[in-house]
Amino acid sequence: MIKTVLVTGGTGYIGSWVVKYLLEKSYTVRLTVRNKNKQANYAHLSKLADTSSGKLEIWEADLLIKGSFDAAANGADSIMHIASPFILKVKDAQKELINPALLGTRNVLEAANASPSVKKVVLTSSVAAVYGDNIDMKAMGLNEFTEEHFNNTSSLKHQPYSYSKALAEKEAWDIYKSQSQWKLVVINPSFVMGPAINPDTNSESIGFMKDILSGKLAMGAPDLYFGFVDARDVAKAHLLALENHAADGRHILAERTTGVFELTQIIKSIFGKKFKLPTKKSPKLLMYLVGWMFGLNAKFITRNVGHAIKLNNTKSSIKLGLVYTPLEKTIEDMVNQLDKSSD
Ligand code: NAP
Repeated sequence: MIKTVLVTGGTGYIGSWVVKYLLEKSYTVRLTVRNKNKQANYAHLSKLADTSSGKLEIWEADLLIKGSFDAAANGADSIMHIASPFILKVKDAQKELINPALLGTRNVLEAANASPSVKKVVLTSSVAAVYGDNIDMKAMGLNEFTEEHFNNTSSLKHQPYSYSKALAEKEAWDIYKSQSQWKLVVINPSFVMGPAINPDTNSESIGFMKDILSGKLAMGAPDLYFGFVDARDVAKAHLLALENHAADGRHILAERTTGVFELTQIIKSIFGKKFKLPTKKSPKLLMYLVGWMFGLNAKFITRNVGHAIKLNNTKSSIKLGLVYTPLEKTIEDMVNQLDKSSD
């Protein structure tokens, strides 16, 4: 059985849940952080380790430094590569997104190659590596996106975060194909929601919900559609990918696909009038005028607003064995946590 797991990005929103579940299952977790001295970044995980059967080791490594992960990978049975910046508003996409995603994946997988003990790598990709814009579905003549599809419409200028995820995942498959020592299993979550172990994370998931609860969409919700999945389910999928010998290839994770407005209506159905939620969708024309306030440019609006999508999650359920948390429960737990922390 695989016992020592090197985890990158374990300090983040998704990664913290992964580390928690690994510790609870008695794994030795080699957590890589950029700066060991910044203990506040991983104090929540040290606390979890104190009360669990697993062991937490802190190693220093940076996605941008070649060879940085070699020491931590040496002797590890497997690697979970979760770290990658998830930020949507960037000034320099190459520096802030592409380099850490692409060079980081290369550095981590070269560390896997350099350590003969590593037999499996679980990579956190995204549905952003499956498709770029919602309009792609119809443009490609599809009724739904599946694991067969790869995003080929994002670029450094348009949807650079999605571009960073597509480039990184492609790089991972290329490196995987050039060796026979370790197996690669890829997890492609849609928009991740649900409570955080460390609500201070910079993840856009938390920012998105904070914006909704603060009334930012009160004048009207953008007519945008996403897949949504619980952070705890995403972490469980990582463990299933690690432990299931038959697991292979990519796995789209989405409990369902729905609109932002519909999501706010779930909040309303649970919390009533507690938050200033939108009562309607913003007309697309209006979005062209006010979209900049939400960081949405004209090209994004044209290619995404008003275009529903469908994500096929069958493989994650049937082959991985993931049981999805209903979105209503995910949202209730997340809103309760954020509401409490704002008191
Ligand atoms: P997050 O909370 O911002 O976590 C990102 C993690 O990456 C943090 O641990 C961060 O470490 C680490 N990181 C960033 N840049 C780094 C660098 N240069 N060197 C080393 N570590 C670095 O975001 P998240 O939402 O958990 O996302 C985690 C992963 O899931 C990412 O790969 C993201 O693309 C993917 N994903 C997220 C979603 C979603 O909706 N949240 C959906 C699909 C896929 P620090 O603590 O040092 O900053």
